Amino acid sequence: TDTPVTVVGLGAMGKALAAAFLKAGHPTTVWNRTAGKADDLVANGAVQAATVEDAITASPLVVVCLLDYPTLHKVLGGAATTLTGRTLVNLTNGTPGQARETATWAAGTGADYLDGGIMAVPPMIGQPGSLVLYSGPRPAFDQHSGALGSLGSAQHVGTDPGLASLYDLALLTAMYGQFAGVSHALAMVGPEHAEALTALLPSWLIATAPLSATAGDDDDSPSDMQAVAIANITAASTEQGVHPDLLRHLLIPLRDLLGARAAGQELDALIDQVRTG
Ligand code: NDP
Repeated sequence: TDTPVTVVGLGAMGKALAAAFLKAGHPTTVWNRTAGKADDLVANGAVQAATVEDAITASPLVVVCLLDYPTLHKVLGGAATTLTGRTLVNLTNGTPGQARETATWAAGTGADYLDGGIMAVPPMIGQPGSLVLYSGPRPAFDQHSGALGSLGSAQHVGTDPGLASLYDLALLTAMYGQFAGVSHALAMVGPEHAEALTALLPSWLIATAPLSATAGDDDDSPSDMQAVAIANITAASTEQGVHPDLLRHLLIPLRDLLGARAAGQELDALIDQVRTG
């Protein structure tokens, strides 16, 4: 039979998680500070627990998705003894340090602890393309990978509990770098061409995404050619009257990195230089 699952936290994400467990046939118990947020889930077969303790004791697998780690400790702190012998899966976004601290705290309660990073927005949960990264003890992951697979592709990235968060934040860094680049691109073309550029963006970003891990450097697009393109972007931005701050911090370091690459330095060594500045 399908593992009973408890979901603590019914924000935009927690609601999507609980709905996906229900849809996959898992008996699902939910709890949220604002009780009314459970109404739709209850209408679809979820059991609403009156207290966090009742919610935890309903299932061997407890998934928590709250605003942040201080909230998690506030919500679970009083219910620690009920966690003994269960698997606690924390999908709250935080830092690797917070994940490791929480793993230590969870070990003290006698729970198995997996930390997770959700690489999806709520409507994607349970759909193709949804990915959730997990870190922590492999046996706990293997035991529950079936249930966790209801949320999307479940990938174990290592036993260090901080790794899912580290990978999550690193992937978000790449995404926000892209968002920042797009905001500069839109500023460059100005409102008159914003719609036309917006129409071109998704397929362009998808087509170039595979090049990102090598900073676009290969035989077809040599680094010195790219360095010229970046110089042209800088000049065009000035011509268009766009403030160069973002370029200065994003593209100039990339241009220097590509220049060093053209001069024969290895990409790994250059990424090391990004680390130290
Ligand atoms: P919401 O703001 O929609 O929900 C926040 C949740 O935290 C609610 O359940 C809320 O309860 C609870 N909460 C906040 N403060 C307290 C408190 N003091 N005491 C008790 N409960 C509290 O956020 P999301 O659901 O969107 O996000 C939850 C986590 O999921 C975050 O860590 C986020 O980074 C992560 N995530 C979200 C994504 C998204 O696109 N939404 C994508 C990937 C990850 P109440 O309903 O009572 O306010």
